[in-house]
Amino acid sequence: MPAKNLPFTLSQLENIAAKVGTPFHLYDEAALRANARAFNQAFAWVPGGFKNFYAVKALPNPHVLEALKQEGFGGDCSSIAELLLCEAVGIRGSDIVFTSNDTPAEEFQKAHEMGALINLDDITHIAFLERALGGKLPEFLCFRYNPGPLKAGNAIIGKPEEAKYGFTREQIFEGYRILRDKGVKRFALHTMVASNELNPDYFVETAQMLFDLAVEVFQKLGVRIELLNLGGGIGIPYRPGQQAVDLARVGRDIRSAYERTLTPAGLAPMRITMECGRMVTGPYGYLVSRVLHKKATYKNYVGLDSCMANLMRPALYGSYHHVTVPARECGARKVYDVTGSLCENNDKFAIDREIADPEIGDLVVIHDTGAHGHAMGFNYNGKLRSAEILWQGGADYRLIRRAETLADHFATLDYPGLKG
Ligand SMILES: *Cc1c(COP(=O)(O)O)cnc(C)c1O
Repeated sequence: MPAKNLPFTLSQLENIAAKVGTPFHLYDEAALRANARAFNQAFAWVPGGFKNFYAVKALPNPHVLEALKQEGFGGDCSSIAELLLCEAVGIRGSDIVFTSNDTPAEEFQKAHEMGALINLDDITHIAFLERALGGKLPEFLCFRYNPGPLKAGNAIIGKPEEAKYGFTREQIFEGYRILRDKGVKRFALHTMVASNELNPDYFVETAQMLFDLAVEVFQKLGVRIELLNLGGGIGIPYRPGQQAVDLARVGRDIRSAYERTLTPAGLAPMRITMECGRMVTGPYGYLVSRVLHKKATYKNYVGLDSCMANLMRPALYGSYHHVTVPARECGARKVYDVTGSLCENNDKFAIDREIADPEIGDLVVIHDTGAHGHAMGFNYNGKLRSAEILWQGGADYRLIRRAETLADHFATLDYPGLKG
């Protein structure tokens, strides 16, 4: 099994662990910022301007959002809490896209009050939004397009026609006609059909699909869409040996499609945006735990002091996350199930995995936890969510979220003697 490199040394990690305690998620700030810059660079050619609206759900920590804002990113939100996080770090107005589904009226109201671009998930939400806002639609609106059978599905999201999201193709035309007739002045179009996709062509095809649709809407309805949101879904190489998506190549190929389709149709300058989350923070996060126990029964087990409450992806989707034992990478390897402590047999970070054979007390690093890691945390079995660390290199780091305490855990109960 090929290795995956770590950006920090074991002694740097032990120093943090000694002060903060394990487990914790560590995020590599310099690497995250360098990646954000490369992403912007790949789309620097967009005549109407490019922006990635970071999908806040991937890593909803304001310190990370602040760094991404400094790199020019906006926010993609789908709840009031996510809107408030953006507001707190100064991601405001049209730097926010509100893409929700099955949305309560208060969320539309808050998004509108903040000046976010509202991205509607369904044609009936036009009337719902109008009522929620006291009878007047915003001047600028976006629709989420679901191409159904016109686009092949991808592994995580599945077939578009089985996804609960978005408008059908017919509804897109009907929807813009309604907006136009109601006096909406500015229009945007969005789609999100992939998740964790590593094939660069998939994103170029998605862009081409939206370019063609924007041209058709313009020709049939006279509605001039000014912003296309290609969604998120760029994957990351969770497994050693997988290739990251070549952003520069995707940028170049989308540029050719833009010049071939939008420019001759009179739709340039068109703003191009995306709302990637996973690829922005995922590869730069690490869950750091210690080995509590080793056990040999019908199989060999390594038990960590973290569990699926800290990282749910392996249990939820059977996802691969690479496991490194920094102190033992040069030594013998052995096949283990790497487990947490929940009373759930699927609380395993890795199954039948050959890893460097650890000793009790060793630090174990689980890779690629910077998206949907801490964020998916939960408290089943009374497990507490861990701290989060923003690492600046060397001995420099900031504690950007403390670990939960039992007092936090019991805070919503009012019962004598339960304080933690
Ligand atoms: C989750 C989500 C994203 C981000 O997807 P990634 O796979 O993290 O890039 C973008 N848009 C919407 C609507 C989402 O739900």
